[in-house]
Amino acid sequence: MDTRVNSADTALRERARRVIPGGLWGHMNADRLPEGYPQYFARGEGCRLTDVDGRSFVDLMCAWGPIILGHCHPVAEAAAREQTARGDCMNGPGPVLVDLAETLVAMIPHAAWCQFGKNGTDATTGCVTIARAGTGRRKVLVARGAYHGAVPWCSPSVAGVTAEDRAHLLHFNYNDVDSIDAAVEAAGGDLAAIVVSAFRHDMGVAQEMPSLAFAWHVRSVCDSTGAALILDDVRAGFRLHLGGSWETLGVRPDLSAFSKAIGNGYALAAVTGREWLRDAATQVFSTGSFWCGAVAMAAAVATLGELRRVDAPAVLLGLGERLREGLAERAAFRRVRISQSGPAAMPTVLFEDDPEWKKGYAFCAEALRHGAYLHPKHNMFLSCAHTEADIDVVLEAADRGFQVVGR
Ligand code: PMP
Repeated sequence: MDTRVNSADTALRERARRVIPGGLWGHMNADRLPEGYPQYFARGEGCRLTDVDGRSFVDLMCAWGPIILGHCHPVAEAAAREQTARGDCMNGPGPVLVDLAETLVAMIPHAAWCQFGKNGTDATTGCVTIARAGTGRRKVLVARGAYHGAVPWCSPSVAGVTAEDRAHLLHFNYNDVDSIDAAVEAAGGDLAAIVVSAFRHDMGVAQEMPSLAFAWHVRSVCDSTGAALILDDVRAGFRLHLGGSWETLGVRPDLSAFSKAIGNGYALAAVTGREWLRDAATQVFSTGSFWCGAVAMAAAVATLGELRRVDAPAVLLGLGERLREGLAERAAFRRVRISQSGPAAMPTVLFEDDPEWKKGYAFCAEALRHGAYLHPKHNMFLSCAHTEADIDVVLEAADRGFQVVGR
């Protein structure tokens, strides 16, 4: 809750509460964030965000993932502007559709083809539907607690969802081979797909990288049963490896869902798939009024080119390691016990003995006052626009936060 009086942010929230249920839908509702966090932003540039009250922050959420080159990146923006001048929403796609599809098929080793949508949920839902169409089976295995989108088959909330919407889902625990085997057995001969995320990135708990044994096991189960291995790379895609996040393990999925970072903030999602699922993808009627929009595709071609040019995964890893080491040092100096988990490029910082994230909230509220926009429970995101100097600003702000927690 924002307690600042006479702020532009407070005034906007008051107006919004009257005309928007709950003030704002979904994950960006700032009522769930620590005290003082703004809801409304005036602008973003590089790794900085400025809120409607003129406060500026080094941004470690990057719009919760879409921003990978930096806010308003000149290369992505120029491509979007040029395409805007020619047309965006037409009776069919622009030539850039083919450029983008060729770019992804060349970049992503498992991809023989791709289709596009707008949001990550379009892509994950598309993968599940294509897997069912391609196998003629119904059961889909998903990890307990994993987030794959906000429609009835996968939404974390139960409001408005019926048991039938999820009738053919079976659950396993991430990184637990035995729980995969039990769920596969329960699926009998009806297993269409196993859905995995790039790593275990559930909110509020330590993140877990996939073990090699787990990744190879789900691959071999899919091979032996004829089910599709679906990698939900919506959140991590292009941050860990440009060919898909499980390239780092040498395990290739049959279908992948991408979105978030693909167009540096322009709304785009992609499903990529192997040859054996091409016919199924042809049969499924996938579409949306805006799914052929050319501007986001032009931004994506430019973004992917830039990510390759700068070797984005290496840049993000370097920045992430600097942040991780700096946080560890400062926390130790202030005698505060933290856990840092997940990939360095997508940092998660939690406090020990903090089951209700109270320390996390106090830490973030103080860091915000000193110019760093962090998250107390969710994994964060670095961008290629962050510099070592920006990471040092974050570390100074974090140090203030650690002082408050350590008191
Ligand atoms: N899968 C994962 C792993 C995600 O993190 C998200 C979004 N947070 C989604 C799917 C859904 O994407 P969107 O919100 O764009 O529909």
